[in-house]
Amino acid sequence: MALREGFFEPLSGMEWPRFSAPPTFMRLPQVSDWSKLDIALIGVPWDAGTTNRAGARHGPREIRNMSSLMRRSHHALGICPYELCRIADAGDVSVNPIDLNDTIGRVERFYATLHKAGVTPLTAGGDHLITLPIMRGIARGRPVGMIHFDAHSDTWDSYFGGSKLTHGTPFRRAVEEGLLDPKRTIQIGIRGSVYDHHDMDFALDHGMRVIYIEEYFELGWEKVIAEARRVVGDGPTYVSFDVDGLDPVYAPGTGTPEIGGYSTHEAQQMLRGMRGLNLVGADVVEVAPPFDPSGNTALVGATMMFEILCVLAEVVAKRKGR
Ligand code: MN
Ligand code: MN
Repeated sequence: MALREGFFEPLSGMEWPRFSAPPTFMRLPQVSDWSKLDIALIGVPWDAGTTNRAGARHGPREIRNMSSLMRRSHHALGICPYELCRIADAGDVSVNPIDLNDTIGRVERFYATLHKAGVTPLTAGGDHLITLPIMRGIARGRPVGMIHFDAHSDTWDSYFGGSKLTHGTPFRRAVEEGLLDPKRTIQIGIRGSVYDHHDMDFALDHGMRVIYIEEYFELGWEKVIAEARRVVGDGPTYVSFDVDGLDPVYAPGTGTPEIGGYSTHEAQQMLRGMRGLNLVGADVVEVAPPFDPSGNTALVGATMMFEILCVLAEVVAKRKGR
C-alpha cells in the first residue's frame, strides 16, 4: 500500500508474516525502472577480490533474507525512509564470478547509469573491492569524501606479485584515480597485525584521518563521529561499512575478522550521527554467510543498511525537494 503516489512500501509483518514472500531488501518491491526511484538498494554478489576466506558473494541473498526483520520506521530517529523517498530493491548487478576485470566493468557501468538517472545507491556486497567500481560509476569528475568503517585501511598497493585489484586495495586505487579525496576521508576502527610497519604510510601520507581502535576507545563513539563530521564537512560523502570493523563477537561471518572492535550498538550510534551530512551513496560489505551459521552477521548487515537508509533518505529527500 503506497502512502504517496509513486512511493513504495515494504510488506507489513502485520499482514504478511515475515517468513513468507520472496526475500527482497527490506521487503520492498523489486523495481528495475530507475526513473521511478530516488534510492536503489542493490546487491553485488561477488567476492573475486577476496585474498583469504571467500564467501561474501553470498552476502546479498542472506542480507535480503534477514532484512525481513526490519520494520518500516526507525524507533530512535523517528524517520520512516519510505515516506521520504521512492525506495525499492533494484536487484543484483549481473556479475561474472570467474572474471575480475569483466565484473569490475559491469559494476562500474551499472552504477554510472544509475548515477546518471539521479538515483542514490545503497549497496550490499560482496567484498570490499566492489566499492572501487561503484566509485568509478558515481564519483568521476567529482571526488567524494568517505566515512569508512573497517578494521583495515584497504590502501595496500598490490598482492601476490602485482595484483592491484583486491579487497585490500580499493581506496589506494580510488585516490590514485581522483575518485576519493583522501583529505576528506576518515577510517574508523583500524587494527590487527600488519604485514609491515609501513602499511599505513599511503593513507597517512595522503592525509586520511585514521582512527585506530585504540584512539576509538579513548575518544568514544560521540567524539569519533564528531571528528568524522569535521573531516568530511559539507562535501559529497560516501559511507563504506565493512562489517569486520565490528568486533567478531557481533559479526563473525566475515572473511578477515579482527578481535577487539566496536559493538553493533556503537556502530548504530555512529551511523545515526551522520544525520544531515551530504551523503551520496553507501555500502555494507564483507558479510560472508559460509562463516555465519546463525545468520547473525547477515542480520547485522541488514540492520546497518536500515540505519544508513534512514539518514540517507532524509538527505536525499531534502536534496530532491521532496
Ligand atoms: Mn574492507
Ligand atoms: Mn576489513
